[in-house]
Amino acid sequence: GKFVFMFDDRKTSTKEILGGKGANLGEMTRIGLPVPYGFTISTDACKSYYESGKEIIASIRTQIEESLQILEERTGKKLGDPSNPLLVSVRSGSVFSMPGMMDTVLNLGLNDETVEGIAQLTANPRFAYDSYRRFIQMFSDVVLGVDAFFFEQHLEKYHEQHNYSSDPQLTAEDWKKIIGAYKAIVKKHSKKAFPDDPREQLFLAIQAVFDSWNNQRAIIYRRLNKIPDHLGTAVNIQSMVFGNMGDDSGTGVAFTRDPSTGKRELYGEYLINAQGEDVVAGIRTPNPISTLQEKMPEVYKQFVQTCQRLEKHYKDMQDIEFTVERGQLYILQTRTGKRTAEAAIRIAVEMVTEGIINKRDAILRVDPDQLNQLLHRRIDDTYERRLLVKGLPASPGAATGQVVFDADEAEYLSKEGKKVILVRPETTPDDIHGIIASEAVVTSRGGMTSHAAVVARGMGKACICGCEGIKINTKNREFRVGEIVVNYLDTITIDGATGDIMLGEVPMIEPTLSKEFQQLLLWADEERELGVRANADNPEDAQKSREFGAEGIGLCRTEHMFMDPERIPIVQEMILADSYDGRMKALVQLLPMQKQDFIGILEGMQGYPVTIRLLDPPLHEFLPDKEELIVQVTKLQLIRGNGEELKKKEALLRKVQQLEEFNPMLGHRGCRLGIIYPEIYTMQVKAIFYAAAHLTDKGLNVQPEIMIPLVGHVNELKQMRQLVVDTAVEVMEETGKKLKYTVGTMIELPRAALTADDIAMEADFFSFGTNDLTQTTFGFSRDDAEGKFLQSYVEHNILPDNPFSVLDQNGVGKLVEMGVKLGRGTNPTIKTGICGEHGGEKSSIEFCYRTGLDYVSCSPFRVPLARLAGAQATI
Ligand code: PEP
Ligand code: MG
Repeated sequence: GKFVFMFDDRKTSTKEILGGKGANLGEMTRIGLPVPYGFTISTDACKSYYESGKEIIASIRTQIEESLQILEERTGKKLGDPSNPLLVSVRSGSVFSMPGMMDTVLNLGLNDETVEGIAQLTANPRFAYDSYRRFIQMFSDVVLGVDAFFFEQHLEKYHEQHNYSSDPQLTAEDWKKIIGAYKAIVKKHSKKAFPDDPREQLFLAIQAVFDSWNNQRAIIYRRLNKIPDHLGTAVNIQSMVFGNMGDDSGTGVAFTRDPSTGKRELYGEYLINAQGEDVVAGIRTPNPISTLQEKMPEVYKQFVQTCQRLEKHYKDMQDIEFTVERGQLYILQTRTGKRTAEAAIRIAVEMVTEGIINKRDAILRVDPDQLNQLLHRRIDDTYERRLLVKGLPASPGAATGQVVFDADEAEYLSKEGKKVILVRPETTPDDIHGIIASEAVVTSRGGMTSHAAVVARGMGKACICGCEGIKINTKNREFRVGEIVVNYLDTITIDGATGDIMLGEVPMIEPTLSKEFQQLLLWADEERELGVRANADNPEDAQKSREFGAEGIGLCRTEHMFMDPERIPIVQEMILADSYDGRMKALVQLLPMQKQDFIGILEGMQGYPVTIRLLDPPLHEFLPDKEELIVQVTKLQLIRGNGEELKKKEALLRKVQQLEEFNPMLGHRGCRLGIIYPEIYTMQVKAIFYAAAHLTDKGLNVQPEIMIPLVGHVNELKQMRQLVVDTAVEVMEETGKKLKYTVGTMIELPRAALTADDIAMEADFFSFGTNDLTQTTFGFSRDDAEGKFLQSYVEHNILPDNPFSVLDQNGVGKLVEMGVKLGRGTNPTIKTGICGEHGGEKSSIEFCYRTGLDYVSCSPFRVPLARLAGAQATI
């Protein structure tokens, strides 16, 4: 097979084979852009490398040699030829972009002889030796495993000894001496001489890039982004161009639109007289791209045109790396730019307006998972900010957390449940686990395209970069802003959209939808067939869910109304009562309150359907904690003269003990409560109908859907349905109003799904309660499993995901499919929906659409996600 492809090889351009970078380099070469020539070693070669026990097999070696020869002919240079040496870069490039996670070697081909050639050809010995020492350091670090630290340490000492304060002061002679010392360092730490032979250098570097596919940070990044481990990386060999040849040279990175807001303007930065990695590494803070217009007007013009061309060609926002060598522009890479959710939406919508893509493309462009970034709280606009300091607004969002200075520490503390903000001089790919664990990231150095900024934007985390006003002392674990000292674990708040950093906590407000976001969701609604409702149990949530576009309430959990601090004593009184009469005394007090609750919600939904679920949790959830009660009773027993209080508490304790269950989730809850204490359900149903009658009077068309929880046998539903019907008749007679309503059930026990044909004969609708259905199908306690073992199940690939967040389609999903099919068999008009957490999760929503459910119901903040994911499922 063919494993190596020249950039202008027309036969292949698939990303799967060439990796993203290789495919794009090929494409850019073919459309005539100024790309330094080279070739790509395919991902299949990487797979072969691992299959042959980390060996580049002979046939692949031959293909590499042949391609190298073509490259040499095309450039007129030869690898290792002192009179006209070819220098190349060796870069990774996988199918999915993994920025900074794998290894790169630049300036390859330098040795003691070729460096002389470069010095003569460029008439710039200083540049030649500077490049050589950079190469030794990078190659040794990446390929030979000699830590960059040793070289940096030596360089620092050299500076001190010669009273230098920065690298540009060093002469060619200085670099020559340093190169000698660097080679000694290599020999000492790797026990071998630095390889002089450029061919040996080349093959060692290729191997190192293959190896870097499996370094720790690449593995973590893949896990986080769900990139399969078997894909492997391609390797790109490209002739070098130099941005560090003087003040007519430079290097930079630019996005064709603002990756933070989506605004249509070139966004990026560059450094004069610098080499590639200097910009992204965040070591020097670069200049904004707009200033290149004055410095190099011709180059700027050409670059702007190239950017526009690339964006049109790929029909998406591009992230472009470029180098200027002695006034000549080269494009080194282009890829689809990573962006925040806000930018993703704005770009998608504006590209439709600009005629670049169509509405369906726009809908598919935005990842629903990204949306919750936008639905986060932000700092209250009316709050007058007291700024500590300002940095670059690298990734929007507001966050409050305790300051930490180390990635490991961030990870550790977040596992302890602390919210932390990682503050670093700069971040490297080795800090990735710390960034994941933090609420936000702040760096004192580096620009908007630095590692921290790119990674944070990708994850939707707030980030501020290049905040030069803070002086970080990682050793003392503090940072200073002038006189002010912020210590380890002090609380700060940051606004990634403005770059503001403030001390302590500040007031936040709820999110709203931008104009573009609403536009995209309206387009999504045009495509969407699946209904979207919200889980809401108070008027505020109902209101919010309407704003976000919910078409009704799929689950109103009435127990939350019982938890109200004013009502809980009455609820307890009801539970404590030993007789029907005693219970009724309390229920009579609860009735008008429940009526008000339902009026609020039904009115808020303005005629949209509302599914109200009758009381579900075990009663002990409304009672105080047993251990606490025992302490109180014991205390009261010691104090005389408080007989009344003691008697009350003793009664309460007896009831708590009586209601205690070993497995409360499998105990006396759901419709089992309604069957044993029908008066409770009767009160709730009465309240619903009184509310409906009241609103009908006001001219509102309300149709409550009354839902019976935790049904496992049709007889349970039959009896509860009768209770609802009887109560309805009673209220209608009393009020003289004709009321419309339906009665249905949750399908949240395996037996309910298995006998859905029977159950459907008594039900107007099914709502799949996939929280309980997951609990009972797996036999995993939903309250204990996650912390105890589920996390580790996912880490060890026993389960692909936490089944309480992502529906287990093969297991729990089969019960859902069966429930729908059996239910429709006996009741063809039955309405079906889902109201477990899965109703707001992308892949589960797609499953619900495929399974033919009528709607999904999720938390109000997930409604926009569900609208978009629902549309994507259809397309
Ligand atoms: C469910 O079980 O999926 C459900 C929605 O009900 P709850 O979470 O209230 O048990
Ligand atoms: Mg449930």
